[in-house]
Amino acid sequence: MSDTIDHWLDGKPWTGQGTRRSPVFDPSTGATTAEVRLADATDVDTVVASARAAADEWRASSLSRRTAVLFDLRRILVERRDELAAVISAQHGKVRSDAAGEVQRGLEVVEFACGIPQLLKGGFTEQASTEVDVYSIRQPVGVTVGITPFNFPAMVPLWMCPVAIACGNAFILKPSERDPGAAMVLAQAWTDAGLPDGVFNVLHGDAEAVNGLLTHPDVDAVSFVGSTPIARHVYSTGTAAGKRVQALGGAKNHMIVLPDADLDAAADAAVSAGFGSAGERCMAISVVVAVDPVGDELVAAIAERTRAVRVGPGDDPDSEMGPVVTEAHRDRIVGYVDAGESDGVDVVVDGRGVHVDGRPGGFWIGPTLLDHVQVGQSVYTDEIFGPVLCVVRAATYDDAVALVRDNAYGNGVAIFTRDGGAARRFTFEVEAGMVGVNVPIPVPMAYYSFGGWGDSLFGDTHVHGPEGVHFYTRGKVVTERWADPSTRGPDLGFPTHT
Ligand code: NAD
Repeated sequence: MSDTIDHWLDGKPWTGQGTRRSPVFDPSTGATTAEVRLADATDVDTVVASARAAADEWRASSLSRRTAVLFDLRRILVERRDELAAVISAQHGKVRSDAAGEVQRGLEVVEFACGIPQLLKGGFTEQASTEVDVYSIRQPVGVTVGITPFNFPAMVPLWMCPVAIACGNAFILKPSERDPGAAMVLAQAWTDAGLPDGVFNVLHGDAEAVNGLLTHPDVDAVSFVGSTPIARHVYSTGTAAGKRVQALGGAKNHMIVLPDADLDAAADAAVSAGFGSAGERCMAISVVVAVDPVGDELVAAIAERTRAVRVGPGDDPDSEMGPVVTEAHRDRIVGYVDAGESDGVDVVVDGRGVHVDGRPGGFWIGPTLLDHVQVGQSVYTDEIFGPVLCVVRAATYDDAVALVRDNAYGNGVAIFTRDGGAARRFTFEVEAGMVGVNVPIPVPMAYYSFGGWGDSLFGDTHVHGPEGVHFYTRGKVVTERWADPSTRGPDLGFPTHT
């Protein structure tokens, strides 16, 4: 017997009319623990109508009121962080400590949004012309939508909704149907923080819900995070329908290790960033580029650490790496490792067939290390999104940087070196949106913006930070004159500045 996860409308759970449902699994056992409702077109209309009405009122709320809600939201999320982490872990599979880290990174965006009065300050020019003043303001866009992936069911929504709502918009969250529970914890928290009904709604669903939102005339802006093919679809469909769209896609993040690097630190980083969250992170390192002659020693150090990773259920404090999200995803990852082996890569550590005591039905695959991977092989070109770390050997620094440049994605990249000059040159010339120097997962803090280049982002605006505020607001410039009535009279000439 499993629970049903409802939508969230006007401050409470809502069943909608859609009759389709999707199973939600416990990835560590394979059992179905819940079913989530999948919205139909009527449900889309209902939720957008609620958000439209709420947006028109919320945009008039004072900045003091918005800030008070955000501070309360922060307090409530801090109080419920363990509950939220447990829900994430149960449906996604990631270990609790990792889930807690995701909640923390989301909270940091709430804290950023608490400063919204400062962030929305405009500019003022006195006496731009005689007795004429000019000022600029930024106003909310209206109804905003967030379509989010399974891999960060709390953090990615929190990249978006605190900023959108602080800016005076209504926000509709369309979470991943694979782990929809975290969205409901967030919804309850917003309501308990005093947010008016309808400003934050949750619409569960799949392509039908997404496509309905993308083309709905009352939706103004869409933030998407997910895989590159869907990001491309969301961007082209949403912009064709006249929406403002930012669509963040997949990744294939490279970590370049120069011969002068601290190899122990580099090996630790490769294993942490390659296998944390079972590799299901858009900022995971999936390719280590070993620059000659460091390869053999580096691979040995990574292999030793890879074999020591403890794989187990997310609710076991001893586990370092949990299962992957679904059986189909596990089989897809195994298929890539099989293909790599057929292509002649060296399977140094093989995670296929890993079993976990007492959990025979779980979606397990252990950390897997592939060496001598060649450009053009599917394990190199495709985003595997699992615990598979590829090592590519490069003869020179220039060859390593060219690999990053020639890759379609451009999300994150890292270099490990003790040479400050090499690091500076790298940050100057490398083609990626987020760069780490001796840091494998360079996720920007909430007060910077997060986003990649190339096929990792469609649109020109990154999420949260200053670019998030920009995305969720429209500019307006006011030119005003309070002149002496005696100076009035018709003047058909083009306004000039005197
Ligand atoms: P996904 O693209 O399958 O799903 C993302 C969202 O799109 C979900 O809400 C899903 O319901 C919806 N969706 C799925 N298929 C659709 C379709 N055909 N039409 C319309 N909507 C559809 O992604 P995922 O598997 O949930 O998440 C993993 C992916 O997300 C990886 O590629 C990862 O790199 C990427 N990701 C990127 C970032 C980033 O910041 N660039 C962050 C996290 C995850």
